[in-house]
Amino acid sequence: MEVVRNFVGGGWRDASAAATLPVRNPASGEEIARVPLSSAHDVDAAVQAAKAAFPMWRDTPAPVRARVLFRLKGLLDEHKEALARMLTTEHGKVIAETRGEIQRGIESVEHACAMPTLMMGDTVEQVATGVDSATWRQPLGVFAVITPYNFPVMIPLWFWPFAVATGNTVVIKPSEQDPLTHQRIVDLAAEAGLPAGVLNVVHGGRECVEAICDHPDIVGVSFVGSSRVADVVYKRATATGKRAQALGGAKNYLIVLPDADMDLALEACHSSIFGSTGQRCLAGSIVVGVGDAHPEIRERMLDAAASIRLGDGLRETTDMGPVISAEHRDRVRAFIDQGEADGARLSLDGRGATVPGLEGGYWVGPTIFEDVRPDISIGTEEIFGPVAGINRAATLDDAVRMMHASRYGNACSIFTTSGKAAREFRYRAGISMIGVNIGVAAPMAIFPFGGSKGSFYGDLKAQGKDTVSFYTDQRVVIERW
Ligand code: NAD
Repeated sequence: MEVVRNFVGGGWRDASAAATLPVRNPASGEEIARVPLSSAHDVDAAVQAAKAAFPMWRDTPAPVRARVLFRLKGLLDEHKEALARMLTTEHGKVIAETRGEIQRGIESVEHACAMPTLMMGDTVEQVATGVDSATWRQPLGVFAVITPYNFPVMIPLWFWPFAVATGNTVVIKPSEQDPLTHQRIVDLAAEAGLPAGVLNVVHGGRECVEAICDHPDIVGVSFVGSSRVADVVYKRATATGKRAQALGGAKNYLIVLPDADMDLALEACHSSIFGSTGQRCLAGSIVVGVGDAHPEIRERMLDAAASIRLGDGLRETTDMGPVISAEHRDRVRAFIDQGEADGARLSLDGRGATVPGLEGGYWVGPTIFEDVRPDISIGTEEIFGPVAGINRAATLDDAVRMMHASRYGNACSIFTTSGKAAREFRYRAGISMIGVNIGVAAPMAIFPFGGSKGSFYGDLKAQGKDTVSFYTDQRVVIERW
């Protein structure tokens, strides 16, 4: 059985810790590798390698750094299909989705290739008599990146290409549940010419994360995961003076107005909720049909959900794969139990789902509740599975009030053919990522990614222009000659 290794100072190294966890194919339950639970000592070894590489990498001209990423982009294109298959095997999502994930990761690398332009400073000539002023953006040192299981390729690529393009060095702690495909990408980065020590990987769980938060030689932390852990990481990392950005969980509302194009709204809501088996921070969770939109969207959503074909994501005919683990399957089922106990109407029940020949897989079928009150757990908590609520509201105002009751603020969407209603919604939503006739309000790499309220801890978001600010400091020079 393959034991995943850490990547430190340009080479694969065994973790010092003896403890390991299994990595399983969620469609079968089969163990495909083991991942080490590295210690604080292993984290320190990676940080020291990153620290040692920093002066050389900082001195490397920005276009030369970008060229390494440009070569990586070419290698990712070349290996895209193999990476997508590997990713489906360790994560479970269907192959069309993993192809999409790899593509989104490639787009991040492409954007990072523009860093020599993106990190340009500002200048003002004659800011005072005979005096000129300018800003230079400089890298800061060693950054850490801690990522979740649901996009194990794309999310690391939201961060480390930008951190290294700006001249920093990185220690990444990927999710312990599906670390294999990103390992392959680290190999490709080395093949692209990324020098030893610039990118380091340490595998593990809580002990590693805590060691990262406390490490005195790490200058900043980019984290993505549940809000519970995001909160802890943000507080612990900033307590030792680090920069931190921590992206957390979500409970996203999809609001359908009576004037919506119902075919488009149905397709968008359906794939938002059930795509990636609901394991997306941008997944729709509650659909609110306003006025006459409610009966139609309700009936059509129930029909469409009932026809979803579960199975191995490597089969092109599969609509929806398993959830990540037996523990997570049981957690999602427990939410459904609780929703029923709390009095929500269960109109489609996925608890008993199985797939013939893949009885060891972690299956939860499409599940739909109706009239989900905001004070019960399925109305407030992030379920992170293929479980939707369909609610009704008399007006757009009522629907927005329902949405605002949530403590999360990651994404939301409206479906309408009225520009006025869409504009009003955008203006008042108070949520960072807003879709208009789009079910998964995912910003492209050139825009910032991150939520508000309990979905985000920090100020500078991932990607877009924020990423340049997060990974650099501005030196302001004022000069007279
Ligand atoms: P998680 O919070 O369990 O784990 C995230 C990372 O933190 C992992 O690397 C994990 O090893 C580590 N970790 C877990 N428990 C820890 C603890 N007690 N102390 C320190 N570190 C710990 O999240 P997950 O289950 O891997 O991913 C799903 C979550 O991520 C969902 O809540 C989802 O909404 C969120 N997410 C958010 C975004 C976003 O952009 N806001 C994107 C993707 C996923």
